[in-house]
Amino acid sequence: MNESCLPEHKQQTGYADLHTHTTASDGLLTPSELVKKAAGEGFRAIGIADHDSIDGIAEASDASQRYGIEVVPAVELNTQIGNQEIHLLGYYIQTDLVWFRDFLSNIRHSRLLRARKIVDNLRRIYGMDISYEDVENEAKDGIIARPHIARVLVKKKIVSDMSEAYTKYIGNNCPAFQPRYKLTPEEGIKIITQAGGIPVLAHPGLLPDMKLVYYVIGLGLKGIEAWHSRHTPGQSRLFVQMAQKYGLIATGGSDYHGNDEAGGIRLGDAKVPYSVVCELKESARQIMHKK
Ligand SMILES: [Zn+2]
Ligand SMILES: [Zn+2]
Repeated sequence: MNESCLPEHKQQTGYADLHTHTTASDGLLTPSELVKKAAGEGFRAIGIADHDSIDGIAEASDASQRYGIEVVPAVELNTQIGNQEIHLLGYYIQTDLVWFRDFLSNIRHSRLLRARKIVDNLRRIYGMDISYEDVENEAKDGIIARPHIARVLVKKKIVSDMSEAYTKYIGNNCPAFQPRYKLTPEEGIKIITQAGGIPVLAHPGLLPDMKLVYYVIGLGLKGIEAWHSRHTPGQSRLFVQMAQKYGLIATGGSDYHGNDEAGGIRLGDAKVPYSVVCELKESARQIMHKK
């Protein structure tokens, strides 16, 4: 427990952006670059929440010593009900658990296999001149997923835009489609908790139906991402009220991916007071205590 979280120290000043991505998943900045940037912009803490990966956390923690900022270790898991994706954040997951690392690498491996199968299908069914290497080049070092395949199809002028790629070739009901490895929100919450982490519903405002939010809350959620760069102020207020009503921690973060082009999401576009970091730490301590 960080002493600065004790109320009598009254040091709960400063801000944290609790949702960012690095090159360990689909972000553009390395963990060190991101930590340096966050420190330079005056943040007291930064949450590293890569998709299906905790590989960036060790580097980020090292860098945090150099730049005088605190790193909040996290992960973002992609879960699904029917065709609806539900993203879960896991804060303060333990990063030294072999089974948890294996679990995450299995998910990443199954994604790669899936992308390979879709490319094979496109070649076999439509005789398309595309290779898996084309898709890898498109994804650079990040995770390989359908958007990268769609972009290759656009570049090769097989389709005129991304949406045509989905409607004609790689969408859910197309012949070349390959289902993904599926994790239910229930399983996601269980795994995060078993790894000592705090399960938080990511960007609930992006879900099409509030029923899904209530459903996931009912599964044993501990927090809800009330502030997110794509939430309206009204949505944030609503999720803060829900957090109070259901006894959840209201978290927040930008979902920054390192691309600073005009109109893009910037670091700190959604942030929370440092006291939220203290709430997460306290909750993680209780989870560890129960184990
Ligand atoms: Zn997400
Ligand atoms: Zn994210």
